[in-house]
Amino acid sequence: MNMNVTIAPAAPPATDPLDALFDTMFRPMDAQGVYARTGAYESVVEALAALITSKREADTEVFRFPPVMSRAHLERHGYLKSFPNLLGCVSCLEGSESEILAQAGLHEKGGDWTSGLETADLVLTPAACYPVYPIAAARGPVPAAGYRFDVACDCFRREPSPHLDRLQSFRMREYVTIGTPEQVAEFRERWIVRATALADDLGLPYTVEQASDPFFGRLGQIKAFSQLEAALKFELLIPLRGQAAGTACMSFNYHREHFGTTWDLRHADGEPAHTGCVAFGMDRLAVAMFATHGAAIAGWPQSVRSALSL
Ligand code: ATP
Ligand code: ZN
Ligand code: MG
Repeated sequence: MNMNVTIAPAAPPATDPLDALFDTMFRPMDAQGVYARTGAYESVVEALAALITSKREADTEVFRFPPVMSRAHLERHGYLKSFPNLLGCVSCLEGSESEILAQAGLHEKGGDWTSGLETADLVLTPAACYPVYPIAAARGPVPAAGYRFDVACDCFRREPSPHLDRLQSFRMREYVTIGTPEQVAEFRERWIVRATALADDLGLPYTVEQASDPFFGRLGQIKAFSQLEAALKFELLIPLRGQAAGTACMSFNYHREHFGTTWDLRHADGEPAHTGCVAFGMDRLAVAMFATHGAAIAGWPQSVRSALSL
């Protein structure tokens, strides 16, 4: 069993062709993968968001989540078993006025004010769909027709990188479904068709490939292998660097009953619900638009600009 072949992403070339687009899209903010976004870039993100909204299915409930979520919820999700390396946790100075002032004052004296930080009950949300499962579970049994949600969130993952398609802080939009295995399978098939049509409208070249999550550690390689074997994840990859391996700009995920059992999210007959989601990497899609069509939006193909009303 060779587990290395499909799991490791190919390393991008030493000089990254995406760097030529930095000034068009971003300004530095003193951290890799954390950038101020230009007006031009943001107009593309907004136009992409509107296009994705226009494809929303009927009877889909909308939620927009803040960039932080309950630490207890994320722990219950099992995130620490899969991606402990990516998690960002909120910590704050707590205590009386004098305690807080003493700790903060260390900075002026060249000391380490952060030594007194206390872990808060919040983490930085690492994926847009996590907060929706407890909300659905609190309603009782899943209705026979299942649920559909439209969610979005500013996400954080501790994966600093010099490459402009791998950010620490990025926007994720998702359509999520909760239902029977058949309902989830149909949802995912529909969305692979709809999402590839959307990429066509955007003039983006792509392939759709089976994928695995970057589970942490050596045990993680085994998890990734069984995820591949069960075809639980597909990605829409867009080539952003000529012949080099494409970048995942959307993913199509089937979680089986993982969130159903975690949150006691069940059908009326007591069976755990199955769940799935299609995730749009909003920042990656915007980077892909500039990488594919060039720095000047005015020079993009007319069909692409009209799809985005730009
Ligand atoms: P990758 O293998 O490239 O790290 P992933 O498998 O971790 O991607 P998902 O967990 O499926 O990605 O997240 C959904 C989508 O969010 C991805 O398809 C991608 O478009 C976007 N995304 C994930 N990580 C990042 C990141 N670090 N920077 C920008 N976008 C990201
Ligand atoms: Zn999801
Ligand atoms: Mg990743």
